[in-house]
Amino acid sequence: MHPHLAPGKIVCVGRNYVAHARELGGEVPKEPLIFLKPTTSLIADGEAILLPPGIGRVDFEGELAFVVGRRARFVKEGEGWNFLSHVLPANDVTARQVQRADDQWTRAKGFDTFCPVGAPVSLEEVDRASLQLETQVNGKTRQVGHMDEMAFPPPVLVAYISRIMTLEPGDLILSGTPEGVGPLVPWDEVTVSIPGVGAVRNPVRAGPGAPWFSSSGRESRKGEAFSPPGPAGLSGRGEE
Ligand code: MG
Repeated sequence: MHPHLAPGKIVCVGRNYVAHARELGGEVPKEPLIFLKPTTSLIADGEAILLPPGIGRVDFEGELAFVVGRRARFVKEGEGWNFLSHVLPANDVTARQVQRADDQWTRAKGFDTFCPVGAPVSLEEVDRASLQLETQVNGKTRQVGHMDEMAFPPPVLVAYISRIMTLEPGDLILSGTPEGVGPLVPWDEVTVSIPGVGAVRNPVRAGPGAPWFSSSGRESRKGEAFSPPGPAGLSGRGEE
């Protein structure tokens, strides 16, 4: 249980920062790319992100997150802000090699502890036009993103998502990550902060359980062998 939040669902947005889409050699998407994280992935400030054994590269993705304040269905873009109540820092932790191997992202995005979020702050108490986020790993800045750089700003996301599913009070929207995503390894400490709002800081630890992929060489569904966590297994930047 998170001390501040009990969302019915967590709706996330992929490839929502223009610079990051270009950095990956991709197009800015024509419409928002959305997916869900399970609420059981939520953890609070100070709790450990647990890396599943044998899962390969796991990345941080610092994001601006928003709490839905009112029931939303078929909302107009111009009214989207009226349905959001709070802003908070979030980390859309992603098993990157699994994301590349699977046709959809439920597994890559859905592990327990893969959604650290900070304490929500009322949007009435912040200058929303100046909202930006910064991600640090072990004290070094790795990502900086400003809301102006989003392909689809929050009101557009509310309009788009509410055409598909009813957004209910307490639901979370994670609005996508800027360029600079990278891997986490045990004993890292990752912090996502929003100046003027707050931060969520989490240690990274090796998680429990048996390895997902045995030394007998079990491969992914697309035939891509998994390599163990570590520099040798890392290549390229994130998908979104
Ligand atoms: Mg993300």
